Amino acid sequence: MNISVVIPLFNEEESLPELCTWIKKVMDENGFSYEVILVDDGSTDHSWNTIEQLRTTHDQIKGIKFQRNYGKSAALNEGFKAATGDVVITMDADLQDSPDEIPALRKMIVDDGYDMVSGWKKKRYDSTIAKNIPSKFFNAVTRRMSKIPLHDFNCGLKAYNLKVVKSIEVYGEMHRYIPVLAKWAGFKKIGEKVVEHRPRKYGITKFGWERFINGFLDLASIMFVGRFGKRPMHFFGFWGTLSFFVGLLLSVYLIVSKFVDPDYALTNRPAFFLALTLLLMGSQLFLAGFTGELIARNSSERNSYLVEKKLGV
Ligand code: UDP
Ligand code: MG
Repeated sequence: MNISVVIPLFNEEESLPELCTWIKKVMDENGFSYEVILVDDGSTDHSWNTIEQLRTTHDQIKGIKFQRNYGKSAALNEGFKAATGDVVITMDADLQDSPDEIPALRKMIVDDGYDMVSGWKKKRYDSTIAKNIPSKFFNAVTRRMSKIPLHDFNCGLKAYNLKVVKSIEVYGEMHRYIPVLAKWAGFKKIGEKVVEHRPRKYGITKFGWERFINGFLDLASIMFVGRFGKRPMHFFGFWGTLSFFVGLLLSVYLIVSKFVDPDYALTNRPAFFLALTLLLMGSQLFLAGFTGELIARNSSERNSYLVEKKLGV
């Protein structure tokens, strides 16, 4: 199969028929074999009925329905598991992303050899204060931390080589960082393509202010797990040792100076409190490192590595 289109949706009943008709038109014009995987993330409107209805006349439509609302990341993760097309396209259900972009995105994966291509909504049709400015800030931070030169990490319209989506696990609010996850999984050829963005036609946005806090916590987790997930002691042990060592030096200095000037009370010296804090913090960090190692050792994935190629096995 050429293409799997994965679409997470939450209460988008009005958009679905138009979206599916449009996708069909693009696919038929280009002669692609395809499937559309609609992941209903616990909608409370008639989205699922609409999907069942659409499937009666449009064979390529497939549906997955969550019992409750788990979030966009979970929906994408399930869609990725089910996908079988050589190229996987994700897009939002609200008609803000245009299916007309599909052929060009697919071309970049198939002909230019990109592992993944992210859409870039260079011109956005969302409110400036609530979306555009926060998004610029978010993208700048993510770009710096991950060293991936993308302008728009969070665009819903993306294309992947099938093996990329089979190698990554998306949860929490991590759909914002799929390029980072892909990079950690070893897929380095990550491209960008300017895509058309349109105003939301029906319904309302499903993401409010809380997305900022959760989003940044998830970035911190990704960076930490990617680098130290399999060796937590290297992180905690380094800072623990450093802190403990500086604390120890300070203590030695304090003890020596007590002999030199016995009248100067230790508790009157700031260095005394600093030394105490550093010694305590150091041993705490060390302990966290050991606990982390124990957990990592017991994890069923401790020795699962992503194998890129196999020969004769
Ligand atoms: N979505 C989802 N689960 C959620 C929230 C959103 O599957 O809990 C879907 C939503 O239906 C849409 C896509 O994720 O297809 C993007 O959401 P939205 O358009 O509300 O985000 P925005 O474009 O405002 O960033
Ligand atoms: Mg939207």
